Amino acid sequence: MEREIKPGPRKGLVIVHTGNGKGKTTAAIGLMFRALGRDFKTIMLQFIKSKKHIYGEHILAEKLGIEIRPLGDGFSWESKNIEQDKNLAKLCWDQCKEAIESKKYDMIILDEFTYPLKYGWLDINEVIPVIKNRDPNLHLVITGRNAPEEIVEIADLVSDIQVIKHPFKNGVRAQLGVEM
Ligand code: ATP
Ligand code: MG
Repeated sequence: MEREIKPGPRKGLVIVHTGNGKGKTTAAIGLMFRALGRDFKTIMLQFIKSKKHIYGEHILAEKLGIEIRPLGDGFSWESKNIEQDKNLAKLCWDQCKEAIESKKYDMIILDEFTYPLKYGWLDINEVIPVIKNRDPNLHLVITGRNAPEEIVEIADLVSDIQVIKHPFKNGVRAQLGVEM
């Protein structure tokens, strides 16, 4: 017999998917799917490290009118110039901040957000207050390896995804519909 589980009182969560295993971004997309089922307004903002790639989720999102926004379009993250990386990270963070402060969303996903923090392009002290002072109903999801301690500290839910096997180790290259 089907039974609907009663939700708890609404409380915006900070959710972190970290670790070296595969599934951080795809699990975030799964959350987005679940949230959209509840008519939540959602957006995924993607910090990308190299030039823009098209993934399956972008194609479906466009068809369905779901917002997945790759940031830093047309720029290279791998510049030799740290100042340029910092400027780009700042431009990307400004878009995230704007989305968080807009009160337009129920769930915001900052995909691969740990990297600009890890590489020191973005100051963690600039980020933490924005997360802490967000709308108390807003669910914020952060993905990426090596989540900084300060983020883990303020998070409500942290999953550390580990590698047991990855086909890449056996020379199997990225698969359509699985990785892209
Ligand atoms: P996905 O987007 O598939 O959920 P992810 O977000 O957990 O992956 P990322 O670190 O963002 O992982 O890496 C994305 C890409 O790198 C994916 O194509 C994924 O299969 C690949 N990848 C992830 N973990 C590993 C690993 N341990 N070894 C080799 N490749 C990996
Ligand atoms: Mg990822």
